[in-house]
Amino acid sequence: MNIVLFGPPGAGKGTQAERIMNQFNLTHLSTGDIFRQNIKNETTLGLAAKTYIDKGELVPDEVTIKMLESEVKSHPESDGFIFDGFPRTVQQASALDGFLSSIGSSITKMIALDVPKEELIKRLLARGKYSGRADDLDEDIIDNRIQVYLQKTAILADYYNKQGKHFSVNGLGSIDEITVRVFKELEK
Ligand code: ADP
Repeated sequence: MNIVLFGPPGAGKGTQAERIMNQFNLTHLSTGDIFRQNIKNETTLGLAAKTYIDKGELVPDEVTIKMLESEVKSHPESDGFIFDGFPRTVQQASALDGFLSSIGSSITKMIALDVPKEELIKRLLARGKYSGRADDLDEDIIDNRIQVYLQKTAILADYYNKQGKHFSVNGLGSIDEITVRVFKELEK
């Protein structure tokens, strides 16, 4: 089983991904977490990503796709993956399909967490108080991330819809309530 967990910044992808990973025995790959780890360790990849992340822009596709493929390859023992924060562009989605097919695999489902914009901003600003993430502290950067999501990422709903793989889940409510909804979609 390979799951894409989809939704705007602040939708709760990371929180739900942890729970899905434990329940279904999947490997959790968060591109945001991997970039932040690389920034912390001052790797070449981290240095390349930082300028984009600090502005709330996407890291270029070429860099992101290469990194993701190498992460998948480094877990040959895995029963499947939960992709969190990837794909974020049509080019990334189509690269992912091509890559998975080359290793005899494919995306099973894309689960989209639906959360209205006002709630996203509220959650991100609240997270900024303890996350240590500069991109959560500044309302202009948050706004830019949401704009980038609407311009470049939201269209992926159509991409997965065409494949019959797009499933939408209400992302408002308690964390437990949302987990129940997500599990229900995954168990269908
Ligand atoms: P959020 O979903 O809250 O924005 P993430 O941790 O998923 O947080 O991403 C943080 C930042 O990392 C993004 O704003 C972007 O700059 C970069 N990033 C993460 N995933 C990708 C991706 N698939 N393509 C390009 N950039 C990415």
